[in-house]
Amino acid sequence: MIEYLFPDLPEAGDVREVSPGILWLRMPLPMPSLDHINLYLLEDADGWWLVDTGIGFGDTQAIWERVFEEHLGGKPVKAVLSTHYHPDHTGVAGWLCERWRVPFYMTQGEYFTGMTFSRMTQDDFTWATDQYFQHCGFDAGRIAEIKSRFGGMGEVMRPLPTAYRRLVDGTQLRINGVNWEVMVGRGHSPEHACLYCAAHNILVSGDQVIPRISSNISVGGTEPEANPLKDWFASLERFLEELPADTLVLPAHNAPFHGLHTRLRYLIDHHEDHLLALEEACLEDGRTALELLPVMFDRELDEHNLGLALGECLAHLNYLHQRGQVAREVDGQGAYRYRSVDETLPQRRRERHYGARGDAPMQV
Ligand SMILES: [Zn+2]
Repeated sequence: MIEYLFPDLPEAGDVREVSPGILWLRMPLPMPSLDHINLYLLEDADGWWLVDTGIGFGDTQAIWERVFEEHLGGKPVKAVLSTHYHPDHTGVAGWLCERWRVPFYMTQGEYFTGMTFSRMTQDDFTWATDQYFQHCGFDAGRIAEIKSRFGGMGEVMRPLPTAYRRLVDGTQLRINGVNWEVMVGRGHSPEHACLYCAAHNILVSGDQVIPRISSNISVGGTEPEANPLKDWFASLERFLEELPADTLVLPAHNAPFHGLHTRLRYLIDHHEDHLLALEEACLEDGRTALELLPVMFDRELDEHNLGLALGECLAHLNYLHQRGQVAREVDGQGAYRYRSVDETLPQRRRERHYGARGDAPMQV
């Protein structure tokens, strides 16, 4: 069961104490699909650690300035840490680190991925990007249209700090007399850092575990043969094994909650359901990723969500393909067509009831 720590949510831009020395800032995101990110402030003897930053436009900086004035109890900020490179987690990291002249903590995989994506321009839409969309099932006209809108993340991310301190799985950060251990999760992003404090049994989970939204697991044009769903399953299972069921989870979206194991099991089931539904949909004829979207998402998708949904559909198809459960052939238009080839499907279908269609893909 999922139980939220508080019966209500703080107002946008407001701060709430989660436990002594741990503050939760609900930072607004100026986007219709996802209107907030949860940021956390950890108090140390000589200053504050900021975990995640908010996005690089809108009121983010003004809200931070107000928090600095009203909530730090006269202490400075001593470090900025981003769980992963996505723009709502790193959007003003450069500004924060410069504002306070403090170090920036991140894993190497996230830091360099963020560096690359934040500098992309339309010139980075190359023949390989073109081919990615062709494989998905788009025609030339549609690809040209997508290209005309392709701009990278530069608009929503201010430049990242030009230096960082590297976090790896197992790094111990000593904050306020207790250890916070870095646990790396994979699948949503390359090397996502969560922070677990055994002394308080608290997990700052970023986008690795969120109570209501299911994190986007995507295959994009830069690594079309990636298998992030395999990594995602491995991470969920590891968290299930290593973290206590009664851990208090501080997620980057929705609200702090108890029920970690329930949520992890739900997420595993959710993706298993999607895998089975895709296999079933590919039983008769070969289908393209674009044609298969309604199997996973039973609602209208705008242009932004279409990209996330397509990436997520491909993540499932790559997983099935690399396990030998679906075959993949190129058709006359250059699109990949997927066909179920696993003979155990009818039996697996009988054994499993699936119904969790249409969980919203994440907007970040
Ligand atoms: Zn994210």
